[in-house]
Amino acid sequence: MSEPSELYTDVITSDRVARRTIAERRRRVLRNVATVFVITVLMVVLLVMSRDQQAINSCHGRMAFATAALQDMLGAGAVSPAELPLSDRGGDPNPQSAPRANTHYFYDAFHSSRGEVGREIGVACCRFAHSQLFRPNGRYVLSYDGAARKYQYRWMSEVEFARLAPELGLRLPDGP
Ligand SMILES: [Zn+2]
Repeated sequence: MSEPSELYTDVITSDRVARRTIAERRRRVLRNVATVFVITVLMVVLLVMSRDQQAINSCHGRMAFATAALQDMLGAGAVSPAELPLSDRGGDPNPQSAPRANTHYFYDAFHSSRGEVGREIGVACCRFAHSQLFRPNGRYVLSYDGAARKYQYRWMSEVEFARLAPELGLRLPDGP
């Protein structure tokens, strides 16, 4: 049989152990919650980045197609088409999205009437900027170089676009 003082020490010790166990359990739970939170945030960031990149890739494919098609038409002596030529397959595996693709772009069907020799003129561009998480937002711009008789497209940040759009004569009805 233990002495009363030993009993007292035992109670104190087991109380300390219980408190330490609770504190450890609480720390473990907090650590798990923090880990789940960080993983969730990372996954959301990766998903958003991948969605933005896919949209940019699709747009890049369509712009490449439209540029080549316009160049071919110019070479064949045809007049500028009424609509921006977009491929169902131009970087976009889903043909259903073709009508949506049309609304994605601003296109000046009368650009050839502005095509003074030796000057670059804006032909088409994304109506709205593509958003990117860690890089500046931007859009593709298709232009015609009158001196080289060449259609070309390039990516522009929104700052660049705001500066160059008036020079290129790209006047979007809803901006910039
Ligand atoms: Zn675009």
